[in-house]
Amino acid sequence: MRASCSNAACSRFSRRPKTRPKAWPPSSKSAPACGRGSKTMKIAFIGLGNMGGGMAANLVKAGHDVHAFDLAEAALARAKENGCTTYTSVKEAVQGADVVVSMLPNGAIVKAVYSADVIGHAPTSALLLDCSTIDVATAREVAGQAAGAGYAMVDAPVSGGIAAANGGTLTFMVGGSTDAFARGEPILAAMGKAVIHAGDSGAGQAAKICNNMLLGASMVATCETFAMAEKLGLDLQTFFDISSKASGQCWSMTSYCPVPGVGPTTPADNGYQGGFATALMLKDLKLAMEAAKTAGANVPMGARAEELYAAFADAGNGGLDFSAIIKTL
Ligand code: NAD
Repeated sequence: MRASCSNAACSRFSRRPKTRPKAWPPSSKSAPACGRGSKTMKIAFIGLGNMGGGMAANLVKAGHDVHAFDLAEAALARAKENGCTTYTSVKEAVQGADVVVSMLPNGAIVKAVYSADVIGHAPTSALLLDCSTIDVATAREVAGQAAGAGYAMVDAPVSGGIAAANGGTLTFMVGGSTDAFARGEPILAAMGKAVIHAGDSGAGQAAKICNNMLLGASMVATCETFAMAEKLGLDLQTFFDISSKASGQCWSMTSYCPVPGVGPTTPADNGYQGGFATALMLKDLKLAMEAAKTAGANVPMGARAEELYAAFADAGNGGLDFSAIIKTL
């Protein structure tokens, strides 16, 4: 049975029950990526939060020796339960590492951690992989600093949320040299279903924010379209059936429909819990607006999406899935 939402704004969209299974997000893979050409390595993992915790566990499952550090005791305890060796500082964790992986909240923290505790402390033979979502300029600056000290570094942000991090089904967008990509690919493959070389340093972050700007704008467009379809008296499942096979088709509608009871099972069917938080969508849209300004790109749709998500988050909805913005439309 479809979960019902008590919110009046949601229930006005409620239609018929869906028939597909409730698992969300859908997983196409049942086991992590062991044995895809990776050999056992000593991997320092920094940042074991919602995303990093599951990613580090998948590296352990793939047979790697994972040396983990996080500022939070609870994150360290979980990493230990998952088979990581835990340390009390970044400097200790990166000693003798073949690879350093980081999954941190923002660019300022990534820069501080690499400048103070990784560069000059990990062996220069170590490959540095930053999987955090950060601004392009900081990603290039840190990679430049690492290169100046003799390290190879790539930016490798991810698409996919906590369930994909736990299930080893992330998509990695990688920026760095061809050689560094080739070295990092088997490590990233142990945590994901796709690893794509986007270009030189910073290109992974650029691809990530361009993708998420498109996603934010297309979600807003999908939401306002369903709201208008309802006002015009259309049955929303019927409209979904038509538009998903017509030129309005897009991922935000066909795979992530924001209307409860319409299309595949999505966070809309679970009171907009789980999925991709509004606060994270807003973070990515802010990064996109920064990058657009620096690059001189004209992004009126992205800018409007950023304004709408900022207002929605400010109203106390940062923890809801980003498709919940339909409530305001
Ligand atoms: P999180 O807040 O759950 O985890 C971040 C972890 O970093 C925390 O455990 C924190 O204690 C640790 N940390 C902070 N400063 C540190 C330091 N100086 N040294 C060591 N550890 C430190 O965040 P998250 O959801 O895991 O997101 C991590 C990154 O992944 C972010 O850049 C985010 O934008 C990106 N991302 C998140 C999602 C998602 O759905 N959560 C999806 C895609 C990308």
